[in-house]
Amino acid sequence: MAKPTLNQRLARLDRLRDPERASAVLKPLGISVGFRVGRDKPSDALVVRQVHGTKIVEGNPEGSEQIADGLFLAKPGTIAVASADCLPILLACPGAPLIMALHAGWRSLSEGIVQEASRIWQTRNLCGEDFYGVLGPTLCRQHFEVGPEVVAAFETEGCGFTPEERALLVSRGTGDRSHVDLALAAAMMLLSLGLRPEGISLIESCTFCHPERWPSWRRDKKFAGSLWSSLELAAIS
Ligand SMILES: [Zn+2]
Repeated sequence: MAKPTLNQRLARLDRLRDPERASAVLKPLGISVGFRVGRDKPSDALVVRQVHGTKIVEGNPEGSEQIADGLFLAKPGTIAVASADCLPILLACPGAPLIMALHAGWRSLSEGIVQEASRIWQTRNLCGEDFYGVLGPTLCRQHFEVGPEVVAAFETEGCGFTPEERALLVSRGTGDRSHVDLALAAAMMLLSLGLRPEGISLIESCTFCHPERWPSWRRDKKFAGSLWSSLELAAIS
């Protein structure tokens, strides 16, 4: 049987308008997905101090706040990342169990935060196929207008995109401006790391387009609140 083409695989991604539906698959497996808007972090969630890097740390209930852009947990508890336009990436392997939450703007994504996540799951003898991915609300392609430096960042070898993939990710705008599909970039990275297309849910709800639902840094500047994207691993009963 011929290997499915990129377009065939992308057509099988689970595209959702409603974030609630992202829970439908994972909830019966003991993992809850949450998207909540507010200034303060969800009270029981472990979080990190985010700096647009690629570091991922183990969620630490005791110690001081850790500087990182992702965290993971292999025991019952809740982890969350904050965003307002950047892409929240939630990864869950119910069998392990292992949950991961990443805060991925263009910098973290192009510098390899998703590949860093895969290094962590590989050290635990897990493979991409074992994971579900949920890509949360972020800027749509139209609203993610960028300069040449962002396009160049996604063309580096570390990103691993083929010319075919890059053509789908980037569209030319006016002058030196371009538009990048951040969620699609993450989905392609997850596919290349072995996740099944059906296991990747894309929540297609732009933070900029929906002031009634989501905070957006580009729209609201310093008045933007935070979108807290969380995963909760339930205690085994
Ligand atoms: Zn938009």
